[in-house]
Amino acid sequence: MEINTKRVWERIHQLSCIGATKHGGVSRFAFSLEDRQATDLVIKWMKEANLHVTSDSLGNVYGRRKGKREGPPVLAGSHLDTVPNGGKFDGVAGVIAALEVLQVFEENDIITDLPIEMVIFVNEEGSRFAGGLMGSMGIAGRLDNSIVDSLIDNEGVILRDAMKSFGAKPDEIHEAVRTKGDYTAFFELHIEQGEVLESQDIPVGIVNGIAGPYQMKVSIYGRSGHAGATPMGLRKDPMVAAGMVIQEVERSALEEGKTIRGTVGFIKAYPGGHNVIPEKVEFTLDYRDINPQNRIKAVNRIKDYIDDICENRSLKYDIITTQNTQPILLNENIVSLMESSAHEYNIPAFIMPSGAAHDAMNLHALCPTGMIFIRSKNGLSHCPEEYSTEEDVALGTKLLLSTIQKSADGYL
Ligand SMILES: [Zn+2]
Repeated sequence: MEINTKRVWERIHQLSCIGATKHGGVSRFAFSLEDRQATDLVIKWMKEANLHVTSDSLGNVYGRRKGKREGPPVLAGSHLDTVPNGGKFDGVAGVIAALEVLQVFEENDIITDLPIEMVIFVNEEGSRFAGGLMGSMGIAGRLDNSIVDSLIDNEGVILRDAMKSFGAKPDEIHEAVRTKGDYTAFFELHIEQGEVLESQDIPVGIVNGIAGPYQMKVSIYGRSGHAGATPMGLRKDPMVAAGMVIQEVERSALEEGKTIRGTVGFIKAYPGGHNVIPEKVEFTLDYRDINPQNRIKAVNRIKDYIDDICENRSLKYDIITTQNTQPILLNENIVSLMESSAHEYNIPAFIMPSGAAHDAMNLHALCPTGMIFIRSKNGLSHCPEEYSTEEDVALGTKLLLSTIQKSADGYL
């Protein structure tokens, strides 16, 4: 049973024409006209593959293929919305791969024991309406219903109105909620968006966990002064302390485990002048790991370090935790199922964590969940240069097919 590599490749490129920018990228924001057009094109292909197409109150689209018996279906899919001037593969690859699997089953008269569904999740990126992961949060019952009136895009459009124009039902979003047991498993194929696979020279990744961010805002307070008139020994300079903390962030991330990442992505000095010792420096800290113990070790280490440095230098500080999303370990049976399938089909695959968030994080709350990564050229994503080869997408789709088929035939 072969997947149609050319069809997959052509569909990815056809979708990239909808919302194409003059800079070579794609801008297809959630609930926009372009989002609707892209979704409708995929629905047309879904119907050609003989799928039974439905959509829920959030605007998520499902396509179902019957099994030999009724029962909780195996679900697979991703998203079609993009960031501004984003790439052709993020999300789209996972939607088209899931569709391809179902179409190949149709063409080869494969009826699995359990039904199989594909899904297109709405507003994964959160580029137009903040937050993102909206479709998957909604079905996992994690969505705050009030967002339909509180979220407004840059043009002043309320989420409620955008959803309505898309054909969704903002007053009934609770009806999209699914419960545990509704699905046998969920699979998402996605581009890696990093350089790990490329550096290993391996086309496909089997994801064993999704790192959760622990984010803090740190403010260090000192004493402002003239850059020329204040001798070095008499200063209380929060910028020097901030610099030492930033170095310690790198050290702690390198020393506390292989999978941990530590980042300072924002820094601001007050009042902020080239000849003024700042009175306050503000910066952010972002630690991620799939291992919650390592993550908390690194977080505590940096907090202790800030405390020591500020005490030694007679500075004051405060730390606010702005986000604490728990890391997720994906289903071990699925990881080993994917490993054995990759071996069976001679697909070189590498087990790795995901540093970025995905819809799979929310599906994990509903059913056993797995993810397949495709190698990204130069690790680039969310930009026009985002690229994966035809061969790599095909290998990932083949692994997805085998995993879906075995799961729907009772392997899990
Ligand atoms: Zn994505």
